Amino acid sequence: MKAIRRFTVRTVLPEPLRPLEELILNLRWSWHHETLDLFREVDPALWEAVRHDPVRLLGAITPERLEQLAGDRRFLRRLHDTADDLRDYLTGPRWFQSLADGPRAIAYFSPEYGITAALPQYSGGLGILAGDHLKTASDMGVPIIAVGLLYRHGYFSQSLSPDGWQLERYPPIDPNGLPLTLLREPDGTPVRVSIGLPHGRALHAQVWLARVGRVPQLLLDSDVEDNDQSARDITDRLYGGGGDHRLLQEMLLGIGGVRAIRAYCRISGHPAPEVFHTNEGHAGFLGLERIRELVSEEGLDFEEALEATRAGTVFTTHTPVPAGIDRFPRELIRRYFGGSAEEPDVPVDRVLELGAEDYPDGDPAVFNMAVMGMRLAQRVNGVSTLHGEVSREMFGGLWGGFDRAEVPIGSVTNGVHAETWVGREILDLAAREVPSVVEAGRGWERVRDVPEHEIWRVRRVLRERLVRDARTRLRESWRGRGASEAEVAWIDEALDPDVLTIGFARRVPSYKRLTLMMRDPERLRALLLDPERPVQIVIAGKAHPADEGGKRLIQDIVRFADAEDVRHRVVFLPDYDMALGRLLVQGCDVWLNNPLRPLEACGTSGMKAALNGALNLSVRDGWWDEWYDGQNGWAIPSADGLAGPDRRDELESAALYELLEDHVSVMFYDRDASGLPRRWLEMVKHTIATLGPKVLANRMLRDYVTEYYRPAAASARAMSADGYAGARSLAAWKQRVRKGWDGVAVEHVETHGEESPQVGARLAVRVVVDLGALEPSDVAVEVAYGRVDETDAIVDPSYLELGDPEPVDGRTRYTGEVPLRRSGSFGYSVRVVPRHPKLASRAEMGLVALPPAPSGMTNGDLR
Ligand SMILES: *Cc1c(COP(=O)(O)O)cnc(C)c1O
Repeated sequence: MKAIRRFTVRTVLPEPLRPLEELILNLRWSWHHETLDLFREVDPALWEAVRHDPVRLLGAITPERLEQLAGDRRFLRRLHDTADDLRDYLTGPRWFQSLADGPRAIAYFSPEYGITAALPQYSGGLGILAGDHLKTASDMGVPIIAVGLLYRHGYFSQSLSPDGWQLERYPPIDPNGLPLTLLREPDGTPVRVSIGLPHGRALHAQVWLARVGRVPQLLLDSDVEDNDQSARDITDRLYGGGGDHRLLQEMLLGIGGVRAIRAYCRISGHPAPEVFHTNEGHAGFLGLERIRELVSEEGLDFEEALEATRAGTVFTTHTPVPAGIDRFPRELIRRYFGGSAEEPDVPVDRVLELGAEDYPDGDPAVFNMAVMGMRLAQRVNGVSTLHGEVSREMFGGLWGGFDRAEVPIGSVTNGVHAETWVGREILDLAAREVPSVVEAGRGWERVRDVPEHEIWRVRRVLRERLVRDARTRLRESWRGRGASEAEVAWIDEALDPDVLTIGFARRVPSYKRLTLMMRDPERLRALLLDPERPVQIVIAGKAHPADEGGKRLIQDIVRFADAEDVRHRVVFLPDYDMALGRLLVQGCDVWLNNPLRPLEACGTSGMKAALNGALNLSVRDGWWDEWYDGQNGWAIPSADGLAGPDRRDELESAALYELLEDHVSVMFYDRDASGLPRRWLEMVKHTIATLGPKVLANRMLRDYVTEYYRPAAASARAMSADGYAGARSLAAWKQRVRKGWDGVAVEHVETHGEESPQVGARLAVRVVVDLGALEPSDVAVEVAYGRVDETDAIVDPSYLELGDPEPVDGRTRYTGEVPLRRSGSFGYSVRVVPRHPKLASRAEMGLVALPPAPSGMTNGDLR
């Protein structure tokens, strides 16, 4: 019989073992090996049986064993040491505490978080990144409060049908059986967060509190009795429904999330966030809620509140794939933010404007969450240098009239949390051989001095663990697909701990090209079965439940891997999650990635592999475009923009085979007298020594703090000081400038210089501008200049602000001198842009006035 309701009975720990609960309730255990060791010691066999989940361990342990441990002096000593270590970790000053002017607190909003496999609240890279962000913030003392949703069914767990089709299961989670506590008012009643819905209805949620080291994480959960069944199901699963369901999730995350933070700060005394970081568009409604707060509590009008909100908001965009961007029908937004649901302080028309695709190629029927995110944030970034460029192109329409390079979207390349992803044996080796790297993140060059046989030994240990674990998983999968015990006997010999091992694990959207390696099956077969230099491939990945095409790709792979002649050399392991991910990035020698450039925004699995001493073999996309240096792995040449999709797959797969056949496997099997692949190990050392400091999430957090959080906090303070005087004056100024902008025109440009100037000469420029109703102090008049290409476009222009505004016949004249620093073709142009000390960039308002036509210039071409 099926239970109609399930719950978890919590174990009551004997008094001496109480610190165990403290350790379990702080998710630091998910990356702290000593704590995990202690859990193992509680009951080693049970620890394996519960798949390293300490909450399940505690639920399954016998009272006899607990009694025994409560009297075990050695265990108790370790328990107390470990608990003391946690308390020290939570309280001591860290990197952030040495900074001046850091924000008092930063709110970080994300629809998913990958903290540990035991909390399946993530689907892929976005969530894993968010998890690594929190862990690293904790390690560095960055005062983040995280906000998300608690999905009752998390993301699905994957298995295979007999014919290799993906099957999905959504095992329910019970929050009481997770390391979470309910956020309660001081009188003990659970905190309730509510958001208004049409027709006077409301959506209620309770708030679970997780502790990720020093970082509190608030997770909203709509499964409460005050809601009707459909409202209870809002947080049922991650990226489950479409339309209304999805919108309600995002309203709960953004609007409810801000309210949850207010409740948390009120109850705990935690300082209020000065900066709000929106991790992808899904959480964008948080800006609307903050505007509502400012209007109703501080008496600002909408535009003033918008300025105050924008100043303290950072928006990170994570994908250049249009399907990855959240868009709703405008009608849906009107239904949930207008009519009876309209907040008087947040008019629905104004909301609609924020998400409007009102630029060329935009869809007038759509509300775009990323676009709203960008309009609600003064600072925006992509997640690798290349993705920054792609985003400036993709969203450039919001800042029409500006060159792509000036579109105010920057980039912070993602990073990964070492303790989460790096094999224990590597960490131990590093602690022994390069302590300065482990302790202070310095001295990476010393990695080159680590004895090669030591590295090779550890790599063998990790590869062997992967092989062993893969066999177990493979056996389970085959049994689950209906194979008998006799039919799986071959699995004892599947994979080989001494064979070159290639890993390929990722979600399965089409741009990732799961099956590129199978484009020429015979060539792949030959690689796998090469008698002297065999290759083995371990594959994992989940397709989105609605993605039939992705499931077909998985089926293609599984069918190929089922074939008797190759099944010991290529395996598909179901249920890619953090635990499997860790196993793979640690155990593989080569990490393969072949997305359609430039659709991979960053990618992080290759970074994890690199830190473990694997070499990347990847299309130059995302982070690899930035940091591939010719010696840290291999770049698969991309036919990006040169060929149609089919031809492109053909060219890129051929290049992939060739690299594997002639370079990767040759080098791996090239051994010296002592059996070591010297050249390979040189590359491994080079990879760790040079990529290590870059791919660590510490570098990423430092970039966010110094380039985004700190400036955002400064802007927010400038807005809020003196009763929000800054926000009021900026909003008034912007409205005046916007209104007057049509009257701004460049009337006349003239230059004075020799006919054919020499390098070192200066070009005197005079520009007459009609400012209409604006003041000279409202604008900057700039000369853009530099080398020009054959279309007369200025390449990488420099800008010189002209000065000395002088009234001339009701117009204003500006002058300046442009230095001619290099020979060759040279061009210039002129523009007028709004200027205000509180703007974060020249392009911020998207306003620019240019000269009428190039022919309006004199002496424009000095070639
Ligand atoms: C690291 C990781 C990802 C993201 O990796 P990509 O390189 O972006 O594919 C996704 N899922 C899991 C389980 C991971 O560990």
